[in-house]
Amino acid sequence: MLSLCNPDERQISESPPRVYAHRRQNKPAFLVFVLNCMPLASNVILHTVTFSPTDKQGNVMHKYVIMGVQGCGKGTQAKMLAEDFDFVHISVGDLFRWNIQNHTKLAARIKRIIADGQLVPDEIVEQLIRRRLDDHDWNFGYILDGFPRNGRQALFFLESYDIDAVIQIDVSDEVVLQRVLSRRLCSQCGLDYNVIHHRPAVDNQCDVCGGELVTRADDNERAVRERLETYHTKTEPAVKLFSRKELIVNVDGTLPPHEVQAEIRTRLQLPQRVECTESG
Ligand SMILES: [Zn+2]
Repeated sequence: MLSLCNPDERQISESPPRVYAHRRQNKPAFLVFVLNCMPLASNVILHTVTFSPTDKQGNVMHKYVIMGVQGCGKGTQAKMLAEDFDFVHISVGDLFRWNIQNHTKLAARIKRIIADGQLVPDEIVEQLIRRRLDDHDWNFGYILDGFPRNGRQALFFLESYDIDAVIQIDVSDEVVLQRVLSRRLCSQCGLDYNVIHHRPAVDNQCDVCGGELVTRADDNERAVRERLETYHTKTEPAVKLFSRKELIVNVDGTLPPHEVQAEIRTRLQLPQRVECTESG
């Protein structure tokens, strides 16, 4: 998994976090993965690779936004893309957390606003995004996750930046509700469980440490329905705006994660994850 800040390189400053993983090597990770697989596989089929925009140095750039209601799996999908293609995964939630952990001036402002019971204004979120995107610290592109959240933020984004596509992961409200309400967390070691797909061996008991499994405070039906309502009223206008610009790529988020990933890659004309299989 990509960590937002390599501890060795972390500096306490007003600079937002960077992802260093993409500087590990000169080749995109998926290529390294393919090359590593080659000796094992005699029947590896490489899908046609269609690359589009390049920067001034001729490097191929991919700029995506990923959208969907909480619980749609967009974090998982963004991470898979980021890992295989060395895209920088820009999570707005992580940006907020980083600013707060590092006691930046912006974090102090945000804390005051939240303490006053207000929502963080668009202007501050946009400032955060602008600073982060001004870094240009990607070699192959980025996936923006958690922004824009409303029509105004989408307008700001479209006016300031160019993107290749907006990946919209579609999941019905009922599926989100079922997914979120089945989440459990070990109260001792923090391991995640799901009472539908990832059950512990003994009910309500962590397989690893024996701790009691609990539900997160905001994983209750009322809170989930409120978040869904906020998405439908505030964020969907942003989706519509992108849709009018023909940037939206809709993907069925109820499929298993690897199938969702495959569908995203098909739609974006990105190479598929390579299965290493031996012939015969
Ligand atoms: Zn545990």
